[in-house]
Amino acid sequence: MPASPLLMIPGPVEVAPSVVQALSAPPPGHASGRFLAAMQACLRSMRTLWRSGPGAQPFILPGGGTAAMEMAVSNAADPGTKAVVVRTGLFSDRMAEMLRRRGAEVLIHDAAPGEAPDPQALDALLRDDQGITVLALTHVDTSTGVLLDLEEFLRIGRNRGVLTIVDAVCSLGAEPLAMLEWGAWAVVAASQKALGGPPGLALVMASPWALEARRRLAVPPPLSYDYQSWTSVMEACEEGRFAYFGTPATGLVLALEAAMEELFRLGGEDAPLEFPRRHRLAARAIRAGLGVLGLEMLPARESIAASGLSAVRYPRGIGSELLEAVLAEGVVLAPGLHPQIRDETFRIGHLGPVVYRDDALVRTVEALGRGLRACGREADVSAAVRAAGDVLAAER
Ligand code: PMP
Repeated sequence: MPASPLLMIPGPVEVAPSVVQALSAPPPGHASGRFLAAMQACLRSMRTLWRSGPGAQPFILPGGGTAAMEMAVSNAADPGTKAVVVRTGLFSDRMAEMLRRRGAEVLIHDAAPGEAPDPQALDALLRDDQGITVLALTHVDTSTGVLLDLEEFLRIGRNRGVLTIVDAVCSLGAEPLAMLEWGAWAVVAASQKALGGPPGLALVMASPWALEARRRLAVPPPLSYDYQSWTSVMEACEEGRFAYFGTPATGLVLALEAAMEELFRLGGEDAPLEFPRRHRLAARAIRAGLGVLGLEMLPARESIAASGLSAVRYPRGIGSELLEAVLAEGVVLAPGLHPQIRDETFRIGHLGPVVYRDDALVRTVEALGRGLRACGREADVSAAVRAAGDVLAAER
């Protein structure tokens, strides 16, 4: 069998050998000691990684990022709730649609693709319309690579007394995040991104305020997404006891446990900060290479560019054939995703434990340079590789 190409997309990501090993084991029973130990470890690690404080409730459910978003949304909004969505791309639109389907009235605080919405204008909107009670934020929108100044947006939400929902699917582990300190109400993620697990698990952290907001809902959420369906199960698992609501994805939880062990092995005790630091370094290295290759980023400024992926503009006259040429070099990159700019952009993931592999980062730059050449463009591949390598070497 030929070696798999290097997966440099913004999820699913390259996983550690220990994760592959966990995936190849028979899925254990959901009341087994082995499974309960894995759930306990994962739930505890979530508290550390989210920096959630002891009063928050972590949930691990079968599904993915979308399911996690659905859970947070449907436990926060009633029909008629007025919500504002800060829009940075496709995933903000998804959150808006979920809120609408829940019967909420949705306002969009918008920005052009590649730009971040203005926090002061949001503050004015919340001040002038006291009827708004829910604020939805996408920390990193994977369709644009735009990073929101989450701390600032949450500060505004807290001051204005609204319930905040954060989609951290593409940021958790790759960007600094402090749920309790920053005052986020619900923060959702998924297994297949920076955490370095396989796809298939929805990860939700609900603050005590989010749990209380659920208790006050007039219309309960769908049973399978209800915080109240799962709370006692998660509490039991965290104490190493069995409880049942729906059959958990036992095999995937073992793989997530292995992924989180790897994350803490790489990042050490300070992993919630160290992992994002390493993602930032990887981003700088990749972008140093992009600069030499003459490629432009979609995010308007480096300060709003995510650490876990680079959304890049195709050079004029080139399209998806570039990704095919890069794949011929053994590296998988992702096409554009945002409907408005799908054909003008592609995306490079530098997400998950691969950010600790200098060889993989440099190889990605090299493959991109060679791909450009295969498409008939001039590209100084060795200078690009050197630029990326220099950034990494400076930190060693
Ligand atoms: N939100 C963001 C920011 C994402 O990047 C993604 C996945 N790309 C999702 C939500 C949805 O997650 P999933 O595809 O696992 O349902």
